[in-house]
Amino acid sequence: MALDQPDLIAVTARDAGLVACRRCARVWPIDTPTCAQCGSRLVSRDPKSLSRVWAWWSLGIMAYIPANLWPMLETRLFLTTQDDTIVSGALDLLLHGSAGIAIVILVASVGIPLAKFFAIAFLALSVRRGSRIRAARRMQLYEIVDYIGRWSMIDVFVVAILASLVQLNVVARIDPGPASLAFALSVIFTMLSAQAFDPRLIWDGIEAEARAETAPGAAPEATPPA
Ligand SMILES: [Zn+2]
Repeated sequence: MALDQPDLIAVTARDAGLVACRRCARVWPIDTPTCAQCGSRLVSRDPKSLSRVWAWWSLGIMAYIPANLWPMLETRLFLTTQDDTIVSGALDLLLHGSAGIAIVILVASVGIPLAKFFAIAFLALSVRRGSRIRAARRMQLYEIVDYIGRWSMIDVFVVAILASLVQLNVVARIDPGPASLAFALSVIFTMLSAQAFDPRLIWDGIEAEARAETAPGAAPEATPPA
């Protein structure tokens, strides 16, 4: 597509009649069914990618709601028991002077998960409807979401450490609440949602993007994936 326009160098593997293996990155002619190097199935674009993204995404949201409403920590001190949700626990820390930890917990447990839900939804929608944000930028967004996935369990780690440290049975005791399980599930579902996304779908809109750029003032058009 770009060969007659020397200033455009955006040629996708599919345009060149090639397909890359997603496991070992070896490149094959487009009609090759399986990778002869590692044996995985080769598809130029995963047609079921978006439905799987939305399925895992919805499960992630469903688990995220109880993760915030149910208690994350059950603290027992002498005869009193206190249940803390993520937000109430962080506010407690803030009131007791641990602003730094409170901010880390709020960012890791509320800010980042919500940002991930929005980012994945935006990427999936942009593939269907097109976007004013350049394909390269959206690819970066996808890489960030994919990268931070594995660092999202910080809250569960904090609860696990506290629960194992404070086990003085009669005097004081900290137990993980049901929200910790819901939160862990939410993180796992969100990671699966991000992994189900086929980032190559982003590049299918790049032709429309290049056309819009060569015609100044024109808005980028949406191109449905082929
Ligand atoms: Zn391979």
